[in-house]
Amino acid sequence: ATGDRLAKVIARSGLCSRRDAETWITAGRVEVNGKKVMTPAFNVTDRDKVMVDGAPLAARQGTRVWLYHKPAGLVVTEKDPEGRSTIFEALASHGLPRVVTVGRLDINTEGLLLLTNDGGLKRVLELPATGWLRRYRVRAHGAVTQAALDGLANGIEIEGIRYGAIEAKLEREQGANVWLTMALREGKNREVKNVLGALGLEVNRLIRVSYGPFQLGDIPIGGIETVKARMLREQLG
Ligand code: URA
Repeated sequence: ATGDRLAKVIARSGLCSRRDAETWITAGRVEVNGKKVMTPAFNVTDRDKVMVDGAPLAARQGTRVWLYHKPAGLVVTEKDPEGRSTIFEALASHGLPRVVTVGRLDINTEGLLLLTNDGGLKRVLELPATGWLRRYRVRAHGAVTQAALDGLANGIEIEGIRYGAIEAKLEREQGANVWLTMALREGKNREVKNVLGALGLEVNRLIRVSYGPFQLGDIPIGGIETVKARMLREQLG
């Protein structure tokens, strides 16, 4: 069989653009039949085994989404410049195809992180316009009234950054801490920590419990659940 350029084959798997694929190849992240290939024009056929970062390309299967219960202490990045452990190292034993994350969670944040084999879907779900509700359980050091939390419903500006409406509920006090539930529709960098920081609270535990229609539910810490194809069709069209 006649083949195709390696960069094209990677892009066609839905993972990324052809430009991204070229960058990954020249960065040495791609192997063909167990050998590193650094030439984007390298010719491959269906019979060649292409791996990116040590994981097989999703073999042109349809879009898939997984729910991951991220533990605290792992960074959501391909390669951490400071050498900290990444979620991708933790995921390696799960036998997933190559996946990308939908958004990020901070290193010490726990809970629901969506994974997908479809780079296009990732980009769509990360667009601010998608505006899916993200719910969090939060433990923070300090004291706050429900009235102060109610003020967040009008949004808040902190150091020139405008955060949209946030629903926050005081659940209970626990020693020097409070437990809150928060719901927001955007995922700005460090949003929960910054917004609560402005109210004098220091977040010391942050757990995402839902993202749009997807729930953390009882997935164990470090565990993964496949989203059923029917659920994906209903939610994503
Ligand atoms: N808000 C934060 O501050 N951190 C996260 O990881 C997610 C939301």
